[in-house]
Amino acid sequence: MALEKPQWKELFTEVVTSGLCTGCAACVVACPHDVLDYESTGGVYKPWHLDIDGGREDCTHGVKGCTMCTRACPRFRNWESEIDQHRFARERTEDEVFGIGDVLLARSTDVSLVENGQDGGFVTTLLVYALENDVIDAALVSALEGDGTTWRAQPRVARTRQDVLETAKSRYTYSANLLAYPQAVETGAERIALVGMGCMASAPGAMQTRKAGKIARRLSLTVGLLCSKTFDDAIFEELFESQYGLSRANIVKMNIKGVFQIWTRDGGYHEVPLKEAHAYTREGCTSCPDFAAEHADLSAGGIGAFNDWTLVIVRTDLGRDLMTTLKEKGLIETRPGDDDPGAVALLHKLAQVSRKRWPATATPGPRRLPVRGS
Ligand SMILES: Cc1cc2nc3c(=O)[nH]c(=O)nc-3n(C[C@H](O)[C@H](O)[C@H](O)COP(=O)(O)OP(=O)(O)OC[C@H]3O[C@@H](n4cnc5c(N)ncnc54)[C@H](O)[C@@H]3O)c2cc1C
Ligand code: SF4
Ligand code: SF4
Repeated sequence: MALEKPQWKELFTEVVTSGLCTGCAACVVACPHDVLDYESTGGVYKPWHLDIDGGREDCTHGVKGCTMCTRACPRFRNWESEIDQHRFARERTEDEVFGIGDVLLARSTDVSLVENGQDGGFVTTLLVYALENDVIDAALVSALEGDGTTWRAQPRVARTRQDVLETAKSRYTYSANLLAYPQAVETGAERIALVGMGCMASAPGAMQTRKAGKIARRLSLTVGLLCSKTFDDAIFEELFESQYGLSRANIVKMNIKGVFQIWTRDGGYHEVPLKEAHAYTREGCTSCPDFAAEHADLSAGGIGAFNDWTLVIVRTDLGRDLMTTLKEKGLIETRPGDDDPGAVALLHKLAQVSRKRWPATATPGPRRLPVRGS
């Protein structure tokens, strides 16, 4: 019997059209034949296959043996335990509901980076250090288009401190940062950091586990962002503007801390209840089981009692080494996760909530461990 070589045909039925696809774009950037494109208009964030090469549902290169898209996809088949095994040399225990790693709190020692960042400016500090000290050549991050007044998030390559500062803070609409990968490579980057939520942060691990070639080697540092969901762009007009009179052009910063916090250019501060926002949840998030970016080197989030600190989960040896270096060089200060037991409890709770979203009809994956309280 011939060995199975899963290709686009299998990805299309098992992930893209089954409700598991997050729109992370890993398949698109890994495809060596450029026959995958990416839809990011009208609230759709999905890959699609060019008709000339096998039609929407099949791929002529796949028929001949190319399997790159399924190797790259962080939602294909037994992705979670495969990547756990590869990254951590073991599967997680029942207690490791937010993945393998140690929790601590971190904050930049540069006050301007804290003020410019979303929480403790930790991600900014890490990227600036890595770019300026020959750890990476480029980072795939998210920027706002144009002057920022449309609040449309888009993938961007950051190469300098200035690029990192300009792309700090969080946008709560989707930005498939991996799509900036070809641009980073065109300009000669060989060691590339990826910043992204769990859906994207599992992609480098999937590619490395399944030996997806150069892209797997180049994505050498993964910085994950904790994430419950992203929202459709329609939330700006239909909720913020029409219900609260907050036009997108007037918004300067947003955060989510139990409520949508919105700061405006006139110095105003507004809160929008999260329950009113749920109707705008992006489709790709509805089956996502990963709150804590479980396969990143370091995962960063804003939950907890201390607003200007970033909660960090240190997961890999690379992540541990970078934390040690940032601390030794006086670039960050840290405190133990135990300083904020409420944050750690919330981390457990939100991770459990996300895991329950993985459909029972899909491969056991995230549901193979009993979810406490279900
Ligand atoms: C969509 C989204 C949902 C989140 N949900 C939660 C949550 O539920 N709970 C929680 O604790 N934390 C959540 N976070 C993480 C939190 O908002 C901060 O990103 C994190 O605490 C790091 O803060 P910082 O000050 O260290 O980051 P900064 O130094 O400000 O750096 C932030 C980095 O995130 C990148 N980024 C911004 N927006 C996006 C985007 N839409 N897509 C991809 N990359 C982006 C930026 O380009 C930058 O590199 C979420 C983040 C995002 C983007
Ligand atoms: S989850 Fe990502 S890699 Fe998988 S099919 Fe969707 S866009 Fe492609
Ligand atoms: S919930 Fe967050 S991590 Fe999951 S698919 Fe949506 S954006 Fe990605």
